[in-house]
Amino acid sequence: MDVQIINVVIREPCALCTTTNKTCSQNCEFAPYFPAEKKLEYKNAHELFGTPSIMKMMRFAPTTEEKCMLASSILTEGKVWKDYPAKGGFETIRKLKWEILQRKFYLNKLKEKMKVVEEETKLGL
Ligand SMILES: [Zn+2]
Repeated sequence: MDVQIINVVIREPCALCTTTNKTCSQNCEFAPYFPAEKKLEYKNAHELFGTPSIMKMMRFAPTTEEKCMLASSILTEGKVWKDYPAKGGFETIRKLKWEILQRKFYLNKLKEKMKVVEEETKLGL
């Protein structure tokens, strides 16, 4: 008696094909970069760039590594512009710069406290 085990992996359509109502083939060129789990992120990118532009940009990247970086960048831009519709990436950079300033200020305060403790230790206080 022969027993055949058929291993069929059914993958959800990728985010790009879902958005465009296309059939997502097993060899879909966009599936590795915009998997089904990233539907919400892709939706933001789609609203910002439009899927035809995203497809064009992705085909412009020559290597897999560059496609990965580009897809990540596209998804990040989509999120940033959704979060800050008036300023986009500028607002993110502004917030990060502010955070760096705050941490530098905190670091300087700690350094001042360390100096005081070192001097007190030298004096045996
Ligand atoms: Zn697809």
